[in-house]
Amino acid sequence: TETDQYAVIGNPIEHSKSPEIHARFAAQTQQNLQYDRLPAPLDGFLATVQGFVRSGGKGLNVTVPFKLEAYALATTLTERARAAGAVNTLKFDGGNMLGDNTDGVGLVTDIVRNAGIAIANKSVLLLGAGGAARGVILPLLGEQPARLVVANRTHAKALDLARRFSAQPRLKVCELAELEDTFDIVINATAASLASEVPPISPRVFGAQTLAYDMMYGKEPTAFMRFAKQHGAIARDGLGMLVEQAAESFYLWRGVRPETAAVFAELRERL
Ligand code: NDP
Repeated sequence: TETDQYAVIGNPIEHSKSPEIHARFAAQTQQNLQYDRLPAPLDGFLATVQGFVRSGGKGLNVTVPFKLEAYALATTLTERARAAGAVNTLKFDGGNMLGDNTDGVGLVTDIVRNAGIAIANKSVLLLGAGGAARGVILPLLGEQPARLVVANRTHAKALDLARRFSAQPRLKVCELAELEDTFDIVINATAASLASEVPPISPRVFGAQTLAYDMMYGKEPTAFMRFAKQHGAIARDGLGMLVEQAAESFYLWRGVRPETAAVFAELRERL
């Protein structure tokens, strides 16, 4: 039988770990597929996707900066992709392009199952209002937290984001500088860590049992993780989210759920 083609599209894309992750999932589940990096020029998302589909491609992961274009391109959307207004997974089937967003379920699975920390009835703070933040709001609310507060450097963007979810009474918006409560879970969905910066928040958001989760990951703990630890919190990086969102995309494409723990451990070793 023919080998099905998948890829991750983004710009830049050289450093993506998705090919490594999906190759391991495929070997583990004995699925006959190939998964590559698909570079696209900043103004060439559509043409690159069309070329990939014409050559028989079955699905794509979509990363920075194309998640909004992928949302616009999809002919069908899952509920969580529609809520996010962003797509990180495309599945091609005949003329149909299904758009999904697996970032949020990846985050929730990593917190609840891998870290063993329930979100239900907890107070959760989400820092950031960009693509990563919008992708995780609906799946976080699905866990029934006591409340979910969104705070962003540019406050107007947090307000815009909350407006997308206006029917959600547990969702609140707060100015970064006005955060005063202690939260059970603090999630950093800003790009501040990329510049080794910490969002300007009071350390009072962290208590002794607080989980401080940075969506970023790397060999060393991020600036946000170090800051949170200094103030007593338990810190975790986003490598687990990366592996879990990949597993959810793999499941959407292949109908088989790969086992993630060993893949996570191998990736951690190789960082
Ligand atoms: P966007 O560019 O869409 O959004 C960036 C966000 O970060 C904005 O809210 C911006 O605030 C804020 N920000 C940037 N710099 C700073 C700073 N110095 N201080 C405070 N806030 C800042 O990026 P994404 O949402 O796509 O990505 C955010 C992060 O999440 C990235 O580090 C990315 O790598 C990570 N990520 C990880 C995933 C995983 O699987 N682990 C999946 C997806 C993303 P403002 O509005 O004021 O500009």
